[in-house]
Amino acid sequence: MSRVARFILISLAIMAAAWIALLAVLPEASRRIGGSVAPSPGVTPQPAAGAVALGEGAVLAVPISGMRRQDIRDSWGDPRENGLREHHGADLAAPANTPVSAAAPGTVEKLWTSAAGGTTVYVRSPARNWIYYYAHLSGYAPGLHEGQSVKVGDVLGYVGDTGNAGAGNFHLHFGLTHTTPDQHWYEGVDVDPYPYLAGKPLPR
Ligand SMILES: [Zn+2]
Repeated sequence: MSRVARFILISLAIMAAAWIALLAVLPEASRRIGGSVAPSPGVTPQPAAGAVALGEGAVLAVPISGMRRQDIRDSWGDPRENGLREHHGADLAAPANTPVSAAAPGTVEKLWTSAAGGTTVYVRSPARNWIYYYAHLSGYAPGLHEGQSVKVGDVLGYVGDTGNAGAGNFHLHFGLTHTTPDQHWYEGVDVDPYPYLAGKPLPR
């Protein structure tokens, strides 16, 4: 074998070894990147760097008619029950019985009454990775039912003070929960909705 042929063979062997090593590492690296997308409590999920422009409907609408984005205050993490727990959501103060409309499209997954939330609606996003939670309602919009498809602006119910809102403290508690598609309506990781109500596009 000539020196040139031996050189070429050795070069090819080194390149092949490098490719095998690279391919072995790549799936692990991409898995790690994918795994970091799930938000943790208190951490605002960020769209991936270089992400393409998000489609229509990716920006939340303000769910209270007549309320401006700049009037919404960040109440995430505020102490509740004498500091026993932190507030997970955004409280939007409004007069009693102001219409509450869908901030994002989806399907009404659950109509639920609880001691904390009072009269509530859980709407699931079409990709089933977000749950929009509307609580302390005085009542539901006529005919609202589980399985109903809603679009932005559809009235879900009316501002109330049910649950632990406090008598006369009329406000909408809007919650945002990130889920996997197979999780139930009561599962997932709560995410601060404030930046998204203020106009930041919701990550997919
Ligand atoms: Zn609240």
